[in-house]
Order: sequence, then C-alpha cells, then structure tokens
Amino acid sequence: MSADEQALALLTRHGKAAVLGPVAGELGLTLRLVDDFDTDSLGTFTLEQPRQGSQFEAALTKARLACERSGCRWGLGSEGSFGPDPYMGQAPWGVELLVLHDARTNSQVHAVAQGPATAYRQASVANLEAVLAFASEMGFPAQGLIVGRSHEPWFHKELRDLEALRAQVAPALAQGEVWLETDMRAHRNPARMAMIAQAGQALVQRLRERCPRCEARGWGPVGLITGARCECCGHETSAARAQRLRCPVCSHEAEQVLRETVPAARCELCNP
Ligand SMILES: [Zn+2]
Ligand SMILES: [Zn+2]
Repeated sequence: MSADEQALALLTRHGKAAVLGPVAGELGLTLRLVDDFDTDSLGTFTLEQPRQGSQFEAALTKARLACERSGCRWGLGSEGSFGPDPYMGQAPWGVELLVLHDARTNSQVHAVAQGPATAYRQASVANLEAVLAFASEMGFPAQGLIVGRSHEPWFHKELRDLEALRAQVAPALAQGEVWLETDMRAHRNPARMAMIAQAGQALVQRLRERCPRCEARGWGPVGLITGARCECCGHETSAARAQRLRCPVCSHEAEQVLRETVPAARCELCNP
C-alpha cells in the first residue's frame, strides 16, 4: 500500500485531532491533518455563515475534501448540531456526527454521539456584572465566549481572558445591551470536544463490526422499521419493530428485531 492508503485525512482547524486519533488507530492508519482549508467557509454556528444541507451532508463534504486535498484514500468529517432536546424540546441538545469516507470504494461509515449541550447558551445582557456572571457560569476562558450585537456585523471570538472580555464589553455596553454566546467551535468548547471523542468511540465500535457477506468493516444500523404490534389489540403501530442493518460497501442488508409488541399506551387505536 502507498503512504496515502495508510493515512486518514482530517480537515480541521479546531483541534479535533487529539480526540479522533483512536479512529485512525482502529483502522491501523495514521492521522493526517489538513489545516490549509477554512472549514468555517462551510458554515459556522454564529449568524455569519449558515450551514447548507443536512448534518450528514456537511460531515461528508468535509471528509471528501480531506481526501481530495491530501490525496489520502480515507477521510474523516465531523459536524455538530445544536437545538432543542428531542423529549421536552426545552433544554439545549447536541448531536455530534462523524463520517468516515473511503474514496476508493466511495462508501461511508458514520457514528453519532448526543446528549444535553451543557455549554450551549446565549444571553442579551445590559451590564458588566451580568457579563461576568455569564462568563463565570460557563467556565470562561476554557469555554470560549463570543460577544456581539444582533443585526450588527461585528463579532469577537478570540477573547482569551477576563481582561480582554471586559475591554471588549465595557464600551459596547455604553451603546446598549450586548449579545453573549458560548463559542461552539470544538477547540473553545470542552464539553463539545468530549462529545466528539464519544462519537469517535462509537465509530471505533462500529468499525469492529464486519459485514456477514463481504467482511467489510462498519456493518451496523442505518434506520428503524416501524410496525411493532399493540399487545392489546394487535394493531400495527408506528413504533419501531426492528432496525435495518447495512454494509457500507456491498449494501447487503439484514433486519434485527427489537420487539414484536408494544404496550397499549403506544397504540394509536387503544390510546389515540
Ligand atoms: Zn458487505
Ligand atoms: Zn391497540
């Protein structure tokens, strides 16, 4: 194999290499950083540059670009998203997605980690005390803060300490309330970095599963199949009955039953 066959390229300016090394290790590859490309041009978490397309597409684009720019066979793309939690819709929730792209077979394996996004917070504040309280609560400066004002084209992302924060905020407060938000870039967000590491572990686990037909790595669930029956009336509900497993290379598929029945509480007829 050539050197480029043995390297896993990662497009990052945000220090993710430290937590994604185990993915390369699992594949017996060395991690090669591609840092001459500004991934912020693909979308940022602030209002400057909204992301286009789905989270999966964004991660895949980064993985493909990493391959193209490095000449490596393997590329890894990472993309986070933040929004309301899927249960009550009230707490901030983070989803970290990793896509491993094989440029030779044009196939992908992905993995996800998700959970409460403890470091995802915004506030509009009117005085210095409120700014300092926000900074202290969020763990600044280990957790980065961005200062700005909505509908105005200025943002300060590179505040390194309380002194710099004060110097930035004090004159701005004289003009009115300022907008504070936690920096969601991985290298300024320790909680996010930890979740990216978890996604890396999930990807390592997935890569250990082999396709029963062609032995390729990355055999695993790609979707749910609905139709679990109500244990009371037998109605076919919209609850998941099984998950679909698929090989990323040969597309061989299998079904893994999760449960044949669900309680009547999940039934659209018994509990409309
Ligand atoms: Zn296969
Ligand atoms: Zn029923």
